[in-house]
Amino acid sequence: MAELEAVNNQIREQQKSVIEEERLKVLLQMAGATAHELNQPLMILMGNVQLMEMDGNIPAHLAGRVSKIIEAANRISDTVKKIQTLRHDQPKTYAGGKTILNLDQHVSILAIEDKDDDFAKVRQILRDHHQLALTRVKSIREAFDRLDKDRFDLIFLDYLLPDGTGLEFLEAINNKGMEIPVVVITGQGDELIASRIIQAGAYDYLPKSKVSGKALLRIISNALEKAGLKREMRMAQEKLAEMSVRDELTGMFNRRYFREALEREVSGAQRYGHGLALCMIDLDHFKRVNDTHGHLCGDQVLRKFGKLLNDSIRKYDVGCRYGGEEFAVILPDTSLDKASALCERFRERVKEHEFTYEKLTLHITTSVGVAARPTGGIITGRQLLDLADKALYQAKSQGRNQVVAI
Ligand code: GH3
Ligand code: MG
Ligand code: MG
Ligand code: MG
Repeated sequence: MAELEAVNNQIREQQKSVIEEERLKVLLQMAGATAHELNQPLMILMGNVQLMEMDGNIPAHLAGRVSKIIEAANRISDTVKKIQTLRHDQPKTYAGGKTILNLDQHVSILAIEDKDDDFAKVRQILRDHHQLALTRVKSIREAFDRLDKDRFDLIFLDYLLPDGTGLEFLEAINNKGMEIPVVVITGQGDELIASRIIQAGAYDYLPKSKVSGKALLRIISNALEKAGLKREMRMAQEKLAEMSVRDELTGMFNRRYFREALEREVSGAQRYGHGLALCMIDLDHFKRVNDTHGHLCGDQVLRKFGKLLNDSIRKYDVGCRYGGEEFAVILPDTSLDKASALCERFRERVKEHEFTYEKLTLHITTSVGVAARPTGGIITGRQLLDLADKALYQAKSQGRNQVVAI
């Protein structure tokens, strides 16, 4: 019983962490709203400081202060971006729609057992535990029929079944990508089978001769706890993947982030009546670079191109690798003319740049399509993207190495 007590303690700890998680979720939601509110004034602050800097007339004794302001604003901006990319994970649910796992709670078990006597024994033992709901099927086929219809927290699996072995069943649920923990309870009590079963993904193994109340309860709570941890790990991994906002090759924001940022910036611009420009940037005849000098050279050019682009935009502009050799920049609070001028400078910079790869030096050009949200007008992110795409297409068809604004 001490073991069960220890497990129960552990589960109580888990409950606490689930509650803590809920609290965190609410905090994150609030943080998301705050980040949104912070963004606009921050943009104005940074824009004005940048204008002062460009003016070039800052008295020497103030220059240090200005650069400290910029530094601080950059840090706030980074934090805001981080908050904006935080994701809320799904609440965990167990059978019965509960979100917290403990053994006082409803647990749904599917027993796959063809022998009436063996099943009766398990049912008898668990009879007094009303929270444990036991469903029985007699074959693998029947088991899958039930699993299609209902949710189970745990499976008790017999080894020898009329239409196959426990190993075959484990293989089948692995292939289907099902995550339900399986405990094998079998009369075939030999070590070899036991180890093969565990290797095939079973959570635990119990010879029928050792079936007792204590053993079953221990196995149930262990398996459920292990399943919960596994699920948490998978969710943490998914969350990490989802939180990645950077493109690996260039370090710029990725397309996923771009899509979110575009929606956010469009609605922000709408709300505050600001302008908003979008540039789609594509390298000219880039396929030739790969074909002539190889993919690694192409990658190196893309990396450098991304750097040049990042150096050409402001801190609060959102520069992304849209895909392949195509880049996109969102310019908040920017008119079509200003955006075109920026792109024109960038186009010229690329044209003049000597890209290098090993001993090679090469030149490339780029075509750019620019579109902007008219101040006071209403436009969706999608429409803005279509417009910028159209402008880019025009730049390409008119001979490349040019900026077209729509
Ligand atoms: P255009 O001027 O019409 O844009 O011609 P293009 O050759 O640049 O365009 P196209 O779409 O025909 O080819 C794009 C090429 O970009 C093809 C693909 O091999 C290359 N590319 C895309 N992503 C990468 C990458 O990550 N690394 C490298 N090295 N090449 C890439
Ligand atoms: Mg059997
Ligand atoms: Mg291209
Ligand atoms: Mg392209």
